[in-house]
Amino acid sequence: MMRFKSKIFRIFNPVTQIFSFEKLSGLLPFDDFILVYHLVSDEDVKHVKHLFPYRSVKQFEKDLDFLSNHFEFVNWEDYLSQKKTSKPSILLTFDDGYSEFYDVISPIFLRKGIFAINYINPKFIDNKEMMWRNKASLLVSKINESDKLKEKMFRWTKDELKHNFSSILNISFDNRNQLDDIADYLDIDYDQYLKTNPVYITLEQLKKLKNDGFGIASHGWDHPFYNQLSVENQLENTQKALDYMAENQFYNDSFAFPFTDHLVTNHFFDSIFLRNPALKFTFGAAGIKKDSYSRNIQRVPMEIGNYPAQKLLKNEIIYYQFLKLLHKNIINRS
Ligand SMILES: [Zn+2]
Repeated sequence: MMRFKSKIFRIFNPVTQIFSFEKLSGLLPFDDFILVYHLVSDEDVKHVKHLFPYRSVKQFEKDLDFLSNHFEFVNWEDYLSQKKTSKPSILLTFDDGYSEFYDVISPIFLRKGIFAINYINPKFIDNKEMMWRNKASLLVSKINESDKLKEKMFRWTKDELKHNFSSILNISFDNRNQLDDIADYLDIDYDQYLKTNPVYITLEQLKKLKNDGFGIASHGWDHPFYNQLSVENQLENTQKALDYMAENQFYNDSFAFPFTDHLVTNHFFDSIFLRNPALKFTFGAAGIKKDSYSRNIQRVPMEIGNYPAQKLLKNEIIYYQFLKLLHKNIINRS
């Protein structure tokens, strides 16, 4: 999906370059937007770098400067109360609970007085385990860095992976055990990596972030692909994470889907809202789009093709208008 979008954006590029953001902002279809990032870092983040392009601190501050010129940042209460703002409003969200939110991002936000919500997977908090996608990125990083590991992979896989170790990145959620098999074979120890190199936020840090005014909310228990789960398992995974939020007095009034809400049915939404009277909204990440389920809101993913916020939002606006012409600007659920 992200790869598809980065291709589309590349095609739109000549068009987006002609127009200023000021011109295009008149075509924004809503008054409020939710943006989603994962992390910001100046480091070489091996467990992430093959998954999506993340911003450096300098790039991220540039995004914030642009956004604060054209939008008004709001907090969760403002969002819920639909606070009237002079400019369109933006709520910032960060997914996956990476430790960089605590170390790198929260100091910037505290300095600038900007609010954000962290959508986290309770299973990975305190670095008890590594999320399977992070394992895939780490493996590819380690293999790329070492001729010895490359040779070992050649010997093991014969021709299969010979020309493209990055096919490790295509291993599916169902086959995620293969990521452990490869690590065993290459003597790569995920637990050791987590110990020397904390990937995720700890519970103690989450509590500090909460005290500093940030929101902590649910991104599902262990980051599954929802459309690969039965509705029963979707509900169980979501409920377990919502219960964790309630137990720790974090937010249990919103939930952000891991990966995508693509193909998630009305039945799931009706059930999860019925079981959780406190739950107000669920969030996808399909960009500027409407959703036939009115309490499921689409956020704008900001880590596509390394575009800065200005260019990315211009692309999103043009893409939305294009979809609207085709009557495809609404996600219809069955
Ligand atoms: Zn995620």
